[in-house]
Amino acid sequence: MNHKNFHIGCHLSSAKGFLAMGKEAVALDADVFAFFTRNPRGGNAKAIDPEDVAAFLAYKEEQGIGTLVAHAPYTMNACAAKEDLRRFAREAMADDLVRMEQVPGNLYNFHPGSHVKQGADVGIELIAEQLNAVLSPEQSTTVLLETMAGKGSEVGRSFEELQQIIKRVELDEKLGVCLDTCHVWDAGYDVRDHLDDVLEEFDRIIGLKRLRAIHLNDSMNERGSHKDRHAKIGEGHIGLEALTRVISHEALRELPFILETPNDAAGYAKEIALLRERAIR
Ligand code: FE
Ligand code: FE
Ligand code: ZN
Repeated sequence: MNHKNFHIGCHLSSAKGFLAMGKEAVALDADVFAFFTRNPRGGNAKAIDPEDVAAFLAYKEEQGIGTLVAHAPYTMNACAAKEDLRRFAREAMADDLVRMEQVPGNLYNFHPGSHVKQGADVGIELIAEQLNAVLSPEQSTTVLLETMAGKGSEVGRSFEELQQIIKRVELDEKLGVCLDTCHVWDAGYDVRDHLDDVLEEFDRIIGLKRLRAIHLNDSMNERGSHKDRHAKIGEGHIGLEALTRVISHEALRELPFILETPNDAAGYAKEIALLRERAIR
């Protein structure tokens, strides 16, 4: 399979295990993929079957499947006001990181959190506290902070907020960032008409070496809307031309691109084919 050195995939259901996800990815002509480590809106995690993992790792190698971009559940809020919610977030992340070691060397992305009227500064402290509690020098997983749209009291709505978290974390070599094109657009960054400027700003504030994955989404809303509603590729306010520039940009082109567009499998296959056709290498 010639993937033009362009790594693209989408979110897949983890219900049937790793090997099933690998096969689904290949069927969609994806060579990377994302999955929720547990029910995205709940807390339960299925036990990992070592035989499934072994079969998957062999298949991954054989098919040339690249980086896995696991996603933490949305319910995980490291900066919740209530202590029991913060405890759940901490335990779930610690447990996920143990489980991630069964597929070593991949990425684990999470939404930094919502400060729920405590203020972004308190949010930043609490998120850093959680990371300092769960990261270990032995882990092979890189934990990614996702850029957020700034809906409600979301922390991570600016590159500055993410950097404030990163600089408080002791094992910061275990941290990276996942840039979501819909989220940064909704947060106010002009990735449509000024991509170079946005990436320069990212580099100046966070450092491009931290950028490890892209969530490739169009947006249903205007720039700066703080809404976070993903659109299909080419059907939103960012548009196909601009998203083609994103996947072709020399600072981004080697990264795994994950679609989180409102699609079924056939819709994802179509977007993957379209973007493979469009990607300039
Ligand atoms: Fe996300
Ligand atoms: Fe995302
Ligand atoms: Zn989103």
